Amino acid sequence: MAHYAMVINVDTCVGCNACMAACSQANQTPVWDSSKFRTYVHDEEFEKDGRWVRQFFPRLCNQCDNPPCVTVCPTGATWKEESGPVRVDPEICMGCEACAMACPYDARYPIDRGDVAHAKAYYGEAFLKRTHPAVDKCDFCWDRLQQGLEPACVETCVAHSRIFGDLDNPDDLVSRIVASGKAKTLLPEIGTGPNVFYIDKLPEGLANE
Ligand code: SF4
Ligand code: SF4
Repeated sequence: MAHYAMVINVDTCVGCNACMAACSQANQTPVWDSSKFRTYVHDEEFEKDGRWVRQFFPRLCNQCDNPPCVTVCPTGATWKEESGPVRVDPEICMGCEACAMACPYDARYPIDRGDVAHAKAYYGEAFLKRTHPAVDKCDFCWDRLQQGLEPACVETCVAHSRIFGDLDNPDDLVSRIVASGKAKTLLPEIGTGPNVFYIDKLPEGLANE
């Protein structure tokens, strides 16, 4: 069984937002509302060694090993797959937003009836993927994984900042980066067990793969 994970190299991210665009097209997220993307690229400017530096920082759902959003869901509309992704069934979700409140990473957002109606006009009824409101989130592009494809953000990343792989395969690049001990997760102290890792420089020997 695979254990899917992502490593994000913040050193190479150029802040082009191609990942956000690819994700919104692949998953039909509401591009008309900037608060409703599955992934965001944050940026920060700070002074380092006497120079101003701009650093980009992509964020998405961490597909936690111990996901509080799943624990609090009263309907079973959200669950964790054995291979790692945490998913949502829009037909079961009642929109209570308990999951959004429980998520320590602010990774969930509501898609309401207005968004569904807007999507019908925007994407066309024949191509519409979403017909129910729900509290949405990234699921590592579950549908694409079933077709043997990488998440859309990974495939499109011009800087190869996003690396996707299987932690159960010791030969996988993601496994080897995580095994190096140099990749960090967000809020490791709260015990959620994120499967999205951040690194600011690829370890020696893995940089050219
Ligand atoms: S990051 Fe938030 S939405 Fe994603 S699995 Fe963890 S608790 Fe759930
Ligand atoms: S596509 Fe890659 S380089 Fe562009 S913003 Fe997203 S992570 Fe950064």
